[in-house]
Amino acid sequence: MTVTAGTRVLALLGDPVAHSASPMIQNAAFQRTGVDGVYVAVRCAADDLIGFMKGLARAGGGGNVTLPHKEKAASLLDQRTEAVRRTGACNTFWGDEAGRLHGDNTDVAGFRRAVRGFLGRDPKGARVLLLGAGGAARAALLGLVEGGVDEVLVYNRTQERARAIARRIGGDRARVAASLRALEGEDFDLVVNATRLGLEPSDPTPLDLAVLQRAGAAMDVVYGRHVTAFVASAKAAGVRATDGLEMLVQQGAASFERWWGTDAPIDDMRRAIEAVAVA
Ligand code: NAP
Repeated sequence: MTVTAGTRVLALLGDPVAHSASPMIQNAAFQRTGVDGVYVAVRCAADDLIGFMKGLARAGGGGNVTLPHKEKAASLLDQRTEAVRRTGACNTFWGDEAGRLHGDNTDVAGFRRAVRGFLGRDPKGARVLLLGAGGAARAALLGLVEGGVDEVLVYNRTQERARAIARRIGGDRARVAASLRALEGEDFDLVVNATRLGLEPSDPTPLDLAVLQRAGAAMDVVYGRHVTAFVASAKAAGVRATDGLEMLVQQGAASFERWWGTDAPIDDMRRAIEAVAVA
């Protein structure tokens, strides 16, 4: 790939960004498809976000936004997708010819595509337990509702946050579990971990799946070079489980499609992330 004066610049904006796999995933995709772009990671303070986003978009580029700026990015946009409006977060931005700043939250499509791949179908009619109520949980809840779930029970350490996302995103499809104890003996088609637990290899699992009467499958949004505690606990309980790597690939693919208007080379992106994950 030759970088010229006409090359579009796409940047990941966040703090920290040094350990992100996105540059490897996106540049592998740019190379495979031959699009004229380069993807870089830029450590960015909250006050600099608006300047970077507008400047990059007006120059014909765009990028991704990661922690801790996804909510602020959503507030800076001129045009928001439904996913941004409903989750209050933006992780992908680009510009148009009129100089307007557009944004999407591709964590929603990424989660939905990853679930579909894992289950072999949309979670239509499923009963799901969702652990967590932060940014990833909001994206997961919207993805589940869009996928046609019958019911989502949301459990979060801070109950008020669970109530807020259930009300705002889940509508009549979501209920809140008051405690982990209240989950004992329950039956779910799918259990999703969208808490941070598992990020560190020493983290405990957010839930011992053996306390449930049944868990059809378990999906973690957390990923790392180690097996996450939730995936390990699910497998120990005999439950089919997967971590958040496929969601990461799929949200990157959905971002790629927003910037370039063409299908993303998923297999190359998957290979790029596997190379990072085992490095
Ligand atoms: P966040 O907004 O900070 O939310 C963190 C969540 O974890 C909250 O529900 C929080 O509960 C819960 N939590 C934190 N510490 C806990 C503990 N000790 N015990 C129980 N619950 C705890 O973070 P986020 O953006 O949602 O990210 C969560 C995870 O998802 C991260 O590991 C991130 O890397 C991952 N993620 C993955 C993808 C992907 O593509 N695979 C995309 C986005 C995020 P409280 O509300 O009680 O604090």
